[in-house]
Amino acid sequence: MANEDDTTVATTVIRNADWVIAWDEGAGHHTYRRNTDIAFADNTITFVGRNYPGAADRVIDGKERFVLPGLIDIHAHPEHEPLYRGVREEHGLRNMYMTGLYERSQAFSAPDDEARAASAEFAYCELLLSGVTSLVDISPAWDGWIDLFARSGMRGFLAPGYASARWRLTNDFELQFAWDEERGREGSRTALALIDQAARHPSGRLSGVVSPMQIENCTAELLRDSRDAARERGVPFTVHIAQSVLEVQEMIRRHGKTPVQWAHEIGILGPDTILGHALFLDAHSWIRWWTKTDLALITDTGSSVAHCPTPFARYGQVMENFGDYLRAGVNMGLGTDTTPHNLVEEMRKAAILARIAARDVAAVTTADLLHAVTVGGAKALMREDLGRIAVDKKADLVVVDLGVAQMIPARDPLRSFVYHAADRAVRDVFVDGRQVVAEGKVVTLDQAAAGERMVQAQRRMLAAAPQRDYRGRSAAEIVPLSLPLAD
Ligand SMILES: [Zn+2]
Repeated sequence: MANEDDTTVATTVIRNADWVIAWDEGAGHHTYRRNTDIAFADNTITFVGRNYPGAADRVIDGKERFVLPGLIDIHAHPEHEPLYRGVREEHGLRNMYMTGLYERSQAFSAPDDEARAASAEFAYCELLLSGVTSLVDISPAWDGWIDLFARSGMRGFLAPGYASARWRLTNDFELQFAWDEERGREGSRTALALIDQAARHPSGRLSGVVSPMQIENCTAELLRDSRDAARERGVPFTVHIAQSVLEVQEMIRRHGKTPVQWAHEIGILGPDTILGHALFLDAHSWIRWWTKTDLALITDTGSSVAHCPTPFARYGQVMENFGDYLRAGVNMGLGTDTTPHNLVEEMRKAAILARIAARDVAAVTTADLLHAVTVGGAKALMREDLGRIAVDKKADLVVVDLGVAQMIPARDPLRSFVYHAADRAVRDVFVDGRQVVAEGKVVTLDQAAAGERMVQAQRRMLAAAPQRDYRGRSAAEIVPLSLPLAD
């Protein structure tokens, strides 16, 4: 690997930034600051205020710049989701309460490690270009993952997935399961070894998250042991839960309890647990289960929720609603469960969908969403040194160009960024004090080359569909193009 310190300078100062989102520790919230200097030495912020008095090895002019803390994405699947571009946007089964998850994952998956490498590199670029500096990457363990992630320069929380069962379909309405408990055990051993390897990486930016994949696909024993393994290592634990109506019905059929209630019963909820989605709670209008205790169980145990609006919204599903979870006291973070990996667009969708679900403009505020992608994510990851611009915090910074058309007028630059410009205005990104995006280009990876390799990888994935699909259909039969193709 190339020397990663080549581009790091000892002290950098962003001089006189027009706008900064700084962390007010006493008040416990972010605040705007004008005409502010930010200095960082190596990977740590050393000064936030007017007229930095010290020496600097590099000075960045802050004129027409808006600096915000690096964004934290606590749920993503980079090794395959970009391969679904053009495949999954409208793919869902009405007979499965609109979800396409089960049919799609059975018919289409990354065909090989070359496909995974191309897909992940492409996704990492999308993430960096939208200002993500920390990522929970939930993927099956694959060769080259740690090296690629380290090369990206992003802060990595590698979450190698495993499970005791796989989903199995024989029709389009019933979710069945193929159990192989030893496979789950073996997968957990591989995952823990990879997490330990990541933690030893010399970059110091990598660590792990223990990630049994889905609540309904794991035995109670595997889930409990996984939770213990996470605690031993002092790392978070995550699991997909309450992500489809069929899953909730299956858990009620098995246990007489919702997935969240069963998770609580077996002891896997807690402050180090991140619940992937937790969208179909008992009180959700598509579930209407009688208990109405799920939200309180999440709150009382201090568990975090990784909310990913896009994949659900495409099926016609919404969380009910983000604002109610916040007011109940749940620590909320955001993720990019699918492509595009654009966390700023997820903020916008989360805000708008919460207001639609609540039929209330005051359901959430833009400040709530900013909190979720910074401090909320950091709390979920048990990292108080991330997600805030303040002295002694990690130098993970996003520099936005106020001169970009969609930012003008920048009366309220956060609103311009979230509701208008998004990634188009991201100019420079620093992770751990090291510049990874410069003038809107990723400097650590090659998105164009990854894109070319991904086109080939998607062809291989689509070609394999008839062997994988339960009805032996071609990709074109499972997911027709949006328009007919003329001769
Ligand atoms: Zn997911």
